[in-house]
Formats: sequence, structure tokens, C-alpha cells
Amino acid sequence: MSITDNLLKLKKEIEQEDVKLIAVSKTKPVEDIMEAYDAGQRLFGENHVQELVEKHEALPKDIEWHLIGHLQSNKVKYIAPFIHLIHSVDSLKLLQEINKQAAKNNRVINCLLQVYIADEETKYGLGFDEVIDLLRSDEFASLQNIKIVGLMGIATNSDNEKQIKEEFYELKTLFDGVKASYFRKDEDFKEISMGMSTDYKIAIEQGSTMVRIGSDIFGKRVIKHFKNEE
Ligand SMILES: *Cc1c(COP(=O)(O)O)cnc(C)c1O
Repeated sequence: MSITDNLLKLKKEIEQEDVKLIAVSKTKPVEDIMEAYDAGQRLFGENHVQELVEKHEALPKDIEWHLIGHLQSNKVKYIAPFIHLIHSVDSLKLLQEINKQAAKNNRVINCLLQVYIADEETKYGLGFDEVIDLLRSDEFASLQNIKIVGLMGIATNSDNEKQIKEEFYELKTLFDGVKASYFRKDEDFKEISMGMSTDYKIAIEQGSTMVRIGSDIFGKRVIKHFKNEE
């Protein structure tokens, strides 16, 4: 099936659940992204800053770019002028840098806190306690140019559906708790970014509002050993 066929099929399935589809185009050429764009897709996700910046420059300006991969503080400045949502905030220090660069650009940048839910050593993210500590801190309260609009998580890369379901369930439970305690009156705190090609159906059952799908749209990626790629 072509990119267009894959995309239209997925969009129909996912958007009828009122879930947003982020097309993960990392490692894929701009031609592939343009095919998806021409089929109506506007939300794209990348996990490397340099690749994201190059694609942003080359492609139509009404694309909403999502950063889904680990972000180093010293690279925030390159994406601050245009990024739509950063899914992968995993420290207060990073959030402070995003705030600083957003202010320089006269913007408020939307962010998700990435929460560690997988049973794997290599995944980035905050522990449940760290999420609470961050939200309670005075430093966080002083940040004016960022907005936390939800949480993100990556489940264990496994065939064990029960385990994946439990991990997504835990993230949804944390989301509900955090919402009730810290964002009760904040309508913008509403996103749970969870689910990829292999597990998006389970994620949607467990309350995902945004799925990040690459291979099911663009086909398998050639494996590249980038420093930050898992
Ligand atoms: C690559 C990636 C995805 C998409 O993975 P697929 O298995 O190709 O759908 C989703 N989320 C993150 C954080 C990724 O790095």
C-alpha cells in the first residue's frame, strides 16, 4: 500500500475516535512527507532537532511540527521559533530552557511531560514522583512562556499486550490524578500522547488523545544509529 493509502485508512480509524494522528516522519525524505501532506496530513513528528529544522525549512508552513524525541537543552533554540508541541520534556532544567527560548521568540510553547512507564532501562522520562515534584516546585510556577498540556509515554517494546495495556493504564491514571490536583480549571491540560504503530489500538482503548505513528504510514525505517535514537 502507498503512503496515501496507509494514511487515509489510519486517519479514518483514528480520527473517528477523536484522537489526533501525529505522522512520525523521522528518517523519511521530504517527498514522502509531501505525499502525506497532499493526502491531508498536517501534524508531523520528528525526533532529531537538526532533521526537524531542515524539514521545517523545506516544507509548507502550515505543517504543525511535533518534537517526540529526547531534547538537549542546548538545541532548544533551533526549534523555539516554530515548534508546535514538545512531547519529550523530562526535566525542570529543560523546561526552564524552553521557557527562556520561547520568551525570546515572544511565544508560549506547548509541552508534554514525558513519563517513564516502560519496563526498560533505555527509555527517557520522569518517574511519577518526579512529575509531582516538578509541578509543585516554585521554579515551575514562575515559568510564563511554556504551557504543560498533558503527558506522554512510551510503552515497553514487547508482544505482551497485557503489560502494554497496564503501562498505558498507569499513564492515564497519573494523568487523571495530575489533572485533578494541578490543572482542574485548565482546559488546555487534556492530551495523553501514547501509542505507536505496534500498540496504538491498545493506547486508544486506554484513553490516548494523540498517537505517534511512523512505520504504519511510511513503511519500515532503515536503521540509523543516531546518538539519541533508541
Ligand atoms: C519513532 C517513534 C514513534 C513511531 O514509531 P513507529 O513504530 O514507527 O510507529 C513514536 N514515538 C516515538 C517517541 C518515536 O521515537
